[in-house]
Formats: sequence, structure tokens, C-alpha cells
Amino acid sequence: MPLPPNTTPVPLPIFFPAMSPADPTSTQASAPTSTPLPGHIEEKEARGPGDKIASSANGDSSPSTEEFPQPHLRLHLNDLTDDGTSIFLSSISPSTLLPYAVSRVQKALYVHPTRGYHIPSTRSVTLIVRPMNGVAYTTGIDLDPEQHKEIHLSSRYVASISPDRRGHEIEGVIVHELVHCYQYNGHGHAPGGLMEGIADWVRLGADLAPPHWRKGDEIKGKWDAGYQHTAYFLQYLEDRFGEGTVRRLNEGLRTSKYEEKSFWTGIIGRPIEQLWDDYKEQASEGEGGES
Ligand SMILES: [Zn+2]
Repeated sequence: MPLPPNTTPVPLPIFFPAMSPADPTSTQASAPTSTPLPGHIEEKEARGPGDKIASSANGDSSPSTEEFPQPHLRLHLNDLTDDGTSIFLSSISPSTLLPYAVSRVQKALYVHPTRGYHIPSTRSVTLIVRPMNGVAYTTGIDLDPEQHKEIHLSSRYVASISPDRRGHEIEGVIVHELVHCYQYNGHGHAPGGLMEGIADWVRLGADLAPPHWRKGDEIKGKWDAGYQHTAYFLQYLEDRFGEGTVRRLNEGLRTSKYEEKSFWTGIIGRPIEQLWDDYKEQASEGEGGES
């Protein structure tokens, strides 16, 4: 099925018997931020009883009450008689899951609403559950594609997920698609594989990887094969060059048109070919240590 422009389809995964635990969604979504607060003054003389250490030692009572801008969230169920629609409704709680997933994506890519990088002003996200081929894709609506997004999720796909994985898988797909609502694209010139890799890197970091993902398969292909293949490579870069590396890449995709050589050497200091070779070398060396 041809997709409209600006869409980002997800490939149909192959499912294996479920091995992962149930939906790990916890109640910590509303924590304002886990990053240190720049400019925060540590209490140094807080050893004696009665000292006011608690007020500034934990972030809860810090003056910052800033929150990420919340998009208007909408849900369309296009066919209530469809099996997948019923399964969707019985597997997740959209009014809880959608804001939580938005929050996860915002924190993964931007850390903090004002002290991190420049977050796109996405004003609305509409999740449309409908019978269609494929898994899901994200698009911008014609009138204002930058600020108003639609995520189309296939109810047929939802019906095909093994019952014990439904909540986890639906959440994983939604997180992936929400990344497309909040990421930059190098002024339209970033490789699709990098865009999909960042989306699955966030999904990976959210502990929502499906059981068919296999770290190590990607070294046989190209760095921008996309999806989990590129996601594992991005995690390697994050581990090697420090937390925030993928956020810097996303920021680089905001500030200038993607041009491969200057992009990678400018942000990481090495060309992509060298980084990919290093990764493959490290991954093949590590093979013996993993079961
Ligand atoms: Zn995608």
C-alpha cells in the first residue's frame, strides 16, 4: 500500500513465543526529571542534626516545576466491530499510556523541557486505530504537518499479537511512532535508517524491545539498516561517547541539513565508516562472552 509523504512505516516483525515480562509500565512517569539541576548549590555543612539537607538534596522540592509541553492527545477508533479494536481497548488504557509514552519520548530525546535541547512544538497527536496492512506509521496532517501528527496503528496487526505480549507490543509501537512526532530529520536529508534507528533506540531504552530483536545481527549489514539494527549501534555510541550522544545527534539533525561526513565528524569527531568498523570489531570480539 503506498503511503502518504512524510510517513514512517514499521516493518512487520516475526514473533517468537513470548519471553519478556508483562508491561513494565510503572507509576514514575510523572517524575519531573532525573537530570542534575545546573546551578544547583550543594549543601556542604549538612552533617548536624536539624540541618536543612533534605530540602535541596532531593529534586522534589526544588524550585523547578517546569514540565514538557503536553500535546493534545486524541484517539480515533475507526471500526468498533473490528476484533483488533476490541483487543486494543482490552490490552491497554489509552488515557494513561499515551501521556506516559509521550513523556518517555520527550525525556529520552530532550531530558528537560527548557534546559536540554530544543523540543519541537508538537501540538497534537491523534492515534488512529484502523484496519490496514502493515503495523503503524506516522504522518503530519496536511494543514500543519509539523505541529499536528497522526499515528496510524493497524487493528489487524494488534489482533495478530500473541495475547501475552499485547500490552507490551502496543506500547512499544506507540513509543516508536511518538519518536517520529518529536525527532528532527536533518532538514529532510537524514537517512531513513537513522530516523528509524533513533525511534527504536528510544524503544530499546524504554525496555520495550520485542523478543525477536537480536543484538549482533546488525553487524552483517550497514549502519543505517534502520530499526533495531541501527538502534543497537546508537546504543554503542551512547556507551562509548557518553550519555546524551544520541540527543546530540538529534540536535544536529535540527540545526543543519544532513551531510554525512560533516555530520558525524562534527558531532562525534569521527567518520561514520570508522565508527561502524569499530562497532563491528567490538561486537565480534564480544561474541564469546554472551550466551
Ligand atoms: Zn518508524
